[in-house]
Amino acid sequence: MNSRRTTAAALLLAAFMLVSAACGDGGSKTQADTAAGTSTPPASSNTSSTGTSADASKSKPSETPAASTNGQNQASGTAGVKQTAQTDTKSGKKTDDIQVVANPADVAVLVNKTNKLPDSYKPQDLVDPNVPFTFKEKLEKRKMRKEAAAALEKLFEAAKKDNLPLAGVSAYRSHETQKTVYNRYVQKDGEAAANKYSAKPGHSEHETGLAIDVAGSSGKCAAQDCFGATKEAKWLAEHAADYGFIIRYPEGKEGITGYQYEPWHLRYVGVDTAKAIVKQGVTLEEYVKNAVPVTKPKS
Ligand SMILES: [Zn+2]
Repeated sequence: MNSRRTTAAALLLAAFMLVSAACGDGGSKTQADTAAGTSTPPASSNTSSTGTSADASKSKPSETPAASTNGQNQASGTAGVKQTAQTDTKSGKKTDDIQVVANPADVAVLVNKTNKLPDSYKPQDLVDPNVPFTFKEKLEKRKMRKEAAAALEKLFEAAKKDNLPLAGVSAYRSHETQKTVYNRYVQKDGEAAANKYSAKPGHSEHETGLAIDVAGSSGKCAAQDCFGATKEAKWLAEHAADYGFIIRYPEGKEGITGYQYEPWHLRYVGVDTAKAIVKQGVTLEEYVKNAVPVTKPKS
């Protein structure tokens, strides 16, 4: 560790704080990782609190409400949902439907607007996947859990073989980072507005170390809607499951996932689960609900 490095890190953090307004999951789009400089502010985003972007600053209005996720997770026994409603003291809102996942380290863990990671959770096996990123720095957001990282390397290798080289944009994000980003948004725009484009701490899949935003190796359309029209996105939709990844926020499923279509946001769930999800044409929410016998909590 030297001072130059420390300064660089501080500058990067500052850049991150300034520019990361873009990511609902809390900031995948920093200056460092959006080479194309395409990040746009989220503040003008939709007026609905549903169908928000988990990552980027898209102002597309949501088509369907996310309310249907409520109650679904009651059933997710093996998905590790501890059936304890908790109170959001910050917002004062009724948050009976927010549950803390009991098995945050499970690769199939369900984390969304109603299922949160324990505040203290930090993945224990984070590593740096040996794949290119859209930035050069050794940042936290390169990291993924070991199993996911190994799978990602294979996925990227296969894409490259098909002449569609990929690059990572943003993977792991610590609870602290998410908190910092989210709180900054709250200060800037107020909580109601912030909730439309930013995941609350504990609610971002990036905190699991199992999710990564990707782009083509050029970095073009990184965490942007236009990525969906690229060959890389089509390739991913076709092949990601072979390596254990799903397109976590598919098109037309906003009402279930709570997030708009994000063709760039990959979530590792393991090969068997990923293939089953694709075969059934469902989201992780639906898969978890269907896979598990219903054990409704006494509320
Ligand atoms: Zn993401």
